[in-house]
Amino acid sequence: MIVMKFGGSSVADAGCIRHVGEIVALQLSRKPVVVLSAMGDTTDHLLEAAGSALAEKSVSIEKIEALHLKTIADLNLGEETAAEIRPLLGELKSLLAGVSLIRELTGRTKDYLVSFGERLSVRIAAAYFRRAGMNARAMDAWDIGFVSDSNYTAAELGKESWDLVPRQLGPLLEQGVLPVVTGFIAKDAQGSITTLGRGGSDRSATIIAAAMGAEEAQVWKDVDGILTADPRLVADARPVELVTYEEAAELAYFGAQVLHPRAMQPCLKTNIPVLVKNSYNPGAPGTRIVASLPEKPVLPVRALTSRGNITLIDIASTRMVGQAGFLGGVFSVFARHGVSVDVVATSEVSISLTLDTANDLGALKEDLARIARVEIKTGKAIVTIIGDVSRSSEILRRAFGTCADLGVQVQMVSQGASKVNISFIVDDTQAARVVRELHKNFFGKGGEKMQGERS
Ligand code: ASP
Ligand code: MG
Repeated sequence: MIVMKFGGSSVADAGCIRHVGEIVALQLSRKPVVVLSAMGDTTDHLLEAAGSALAEKSVSIEKIEALHLKTIADLNLGEETAAEIRPLLGELKSLLAGVSLIRELTGRTKDYLVSFGERLSVRIAAAYFRRAGMNARAMDAWDIGFVSDSNYTAAELGKESWDLVPRQLGPLLEQGVLPVVTGFIAKDAQGSITTLGRGGSDRSATIIAAAMGAEEAQVWKDVDGILTADPRLVADARPVELVTYEEAAELAYFGAQVLHPRAMQPCLKTNIPVLVKNSYNPGAPGTRIVASLPEKPVLPVRALTSRGNITLIDIASTRMVGQAGFLGGVFSVFARHGVSVDVVATSEVSISLTLDTANDLGALKEDLARIARVEIKTGKAIVTIIGDVSRSSEILRRAFGTCADLGVQVQMVSQGASKVNISFIVDDTQAARVVRELHKNFFGKGGEKMQGERS
């Protein structure tokens, strides 16, 4: 079997759903399980509705109701499907009325609230798939064994799901049913609805694929796969055909925004390939994510990313060289303040590290200042090169050559422990230019060659 996951923009309206139906129909013989996100920006709209219920005591689901009822009408699904979703819309309205009365939106209520997006989308899509001649059945994640902990807004599935999911889905697939399952959501042991966190339906799909031992997990997006760079920065960025899980996870974490960094985990553990495809351009090959590359790629670099709005912290020991426990002392301060560190470089007497600027660093700085001299610099960006570790010297030389040519000062360098990641820090205002020039260098004409090499 295979898993086919479609994100919000792939099921944004009637036309999109029709199109998804065509894509699924072409692969019916591979026994797909379809996983869907909420339609378009429905999750955001649900959160906005909760915001107004809280702040203005106004309960309105107009936008959400209009989108879903219009989609039903546009797909000619008729009263039967409208009748299936009306109770959900009613329940949603009551919930929002409750929120506005109590003036409280806990994590648990928030998860209950956003769950309506996925529950609506699978019902409409399944109804349409049936109209298109497929034996589709809308299913809520808890019907297929998604049992999670009670860590609302960021829940984890329990071990029992690994047995429950194949037990529920296996027989259905045997009977020729096309399950259309809600991404993103689950239920805890008490029966309260939970979510796996924003963007979590990718993870729903890879969990199902892993639990089922799928042939592959297809993640359908609105881009041609993982690209060599952000297309908003680099006009000729192109899809990468093949990457490893490790590379994909680093790319996701450092800003590629295609797959959630944690989405790959379940498939990595079970060695199931993940295929990223474009629902708007199904003919394009997309990106295949696998355990290891079958042959050495010609290009030394697989892809580039950058992430802005980064804070750089320079920490210098006030004690003597050789002081044991300095690193431990510094990092325990970050742990105590619950601040997650991204990129780190150390020497005997100093540490440079980066954080997201969103963190409030006042108290942390005070604590650090007890053991070290601290300098905090904002307005930085991390440029990350994902590439072939065995060519890291060449990559570094070419990358720094590019920066030198641009007159850009590199402020910190780190080669990640996973060794596929070389990151360096520049000023935020310079990042776009650096990425564009690096892309020319590594992916332009002659990108496979060692520059300056004599032939
Ligand atoms: N609908 C949820 C969100 O927008 C989950 C997802 O799309 O993956 O975050
Ligand atoms: Mg979404």
